[in-house]
Amino acid sequence: MDQTHIVQDSSGIVALFGVEEAAQYAYLALHAIQHRGQDGVGIAASDGDTVRVHKGLGLVNENMNGPILEQLPGDIAIGQVRMATYLEPHMENVQPMMVRAHQGSFAIATTGMITNAIGLRNQMEDDGLIFQGSGDAELLAHLIQRNEGKFVEKIRKANEMITGACTYVVATNDHLYAVRDPYGVHSLFMAKLKDGYAFSSETCSFTILNAEYVREVKPGEIIVLRKKGMKTIQYSNKEEKKTCAMEYVYFSRPDSIVNEKNVHHVRKMCGYYLAKQEDTEADIVVGVPDSATSAAASFSQTLGVPYEYGLIKNRYIGSTFIHPTKEQREQGMRVRLNAISSVVRGKRVLLVDDSVVNGLTSRRISQLMKEAGAKEVHLRIAAPMIKYPCLYGYERTGQQDLAGFNYTVDEMRQYFHVDSLRFLSLEDFKKCVPETSCLACFDGNYFAELSDYAGKVKV
Ligand code: SF4
Repeated sequence: MDQTHIVQDSSGIVALFGVEEAAQYAYLALHAIQHRGQDGVGIAASDGDTVRVHKGLGLVNENMNGPILEQLPGDIAIGQVRMATYLEPHMENVQPMMVRAHQGSFAIATTGMITNAIGLRNQMEDDGLIFQGSGDAELLAHLIQRNEGKFVEKIRKANEMITGACTYVVATNDHLYAVRDPYGVHSLFMAKLKDGYAFSSETCSFTILNAEYVREVKPGEIIVLRKKGMKTIQYSNKEEKKTCAMEYVYFSRPDSIVNEKNVHHVRKMCGYYLAKQEDTEADIVVGVPDSATSAAASFSQTLGVPYEYGLIKNRYIGSTFIHPTKEQREQGMRVRLNAISSVVRGKRVLLVDDSVVNGLTSRRISQLMKEAGAKEVHLRIAAPMIKYPCLYGYERTGQQDLAGFNYTVDEMRQYFHVDSLRFLSLEDFKKCVPETSCLACFDGNYFAELSDYAGKVKV
């Protein structure tokens, strides 16, 4: 299979076990993490006899409602909100993926990326297997299904066959399995909910469910839930934990806890260290909503320069980050953000954003400020420069399209038409995030096996 046909899934996953009307709770938990993916959504539920699934393209509330959720009875449920990386969203890749087999049915929802997927798929196709879609969940479902032994043994064996970082949940008729990737790149959290359990990619789901946070699923751990209780199996023991640092920069909600640190507090620290480098005279600080506002607020406070709401976000459209084409992202951004002319006109503005990926958004936001009458725009990025592609399933942008790979800081400044540009240094960023963080898109230090992608990244 050609590499260009691979669709990887970055997303958010949830799961419930031992909770009546589990699909309803899955719906609420997915709502809380809608920002993690808006290309597709699905929920699968089991009533002990049958696993049923409903899924569609688009947002949670565009695809799920009371009558649909009533068609998903049972006290076990899994769900996913999906961002299609690399290619356009297609229905056949929307999860959970169902396997119906005479040994028993199951549904699977994944987040992350299997880096040896191309080789595995080619081999399985040569063996006569036909794939419906091009996502990792279908591949993983086949790998699990083809292995021998008890179900948990099938999962363990499938995990031994894959490389990269894939975290997932599986619902069978009467069991739930929560599986985290060996390095803990993708977070998965567990909470107590009534007499059962809830799992989510982000802890903010638990606040909405009124569930009590218990702990992270450990890297390389399989948690098995069945009527007679919980058991855990450690299928991998890597020495290093490497949780995605971009969760703090962009992906997670500020009220979530990632790798034992609150996202808002980490962003505030980034703003603090960014301010410590600052030497430009300015009248106001403006943060790009929403993910840069925590950093911008502490940047302003540390500098003693007033914070102003110079940019307003239209909250009723999706994130530009998840639209599949450049044109759609640009169009989406125009609808999404508006500069307030009466705030910025004639002002020297320190504009704080969270990150620069391909540079289109930064360029457009800087233009918005200038069009609104800002006298000077000094762009500050509360994260280091992204120079390397994410090969663990978070970002769709290839290395050839990364502004940080193609341009120097000064070339970027000219492209953005800003008066000055500065990034948080990697050294200072490391002071803000846990030591057990993946920083590969900043420093090119890939730890999990790159397999199909080995030698294709310029480090
Ligand atoms: Fe996160 Fe970057 Fe690592 Fe990907 S490469 S997991 S985006 S820190």
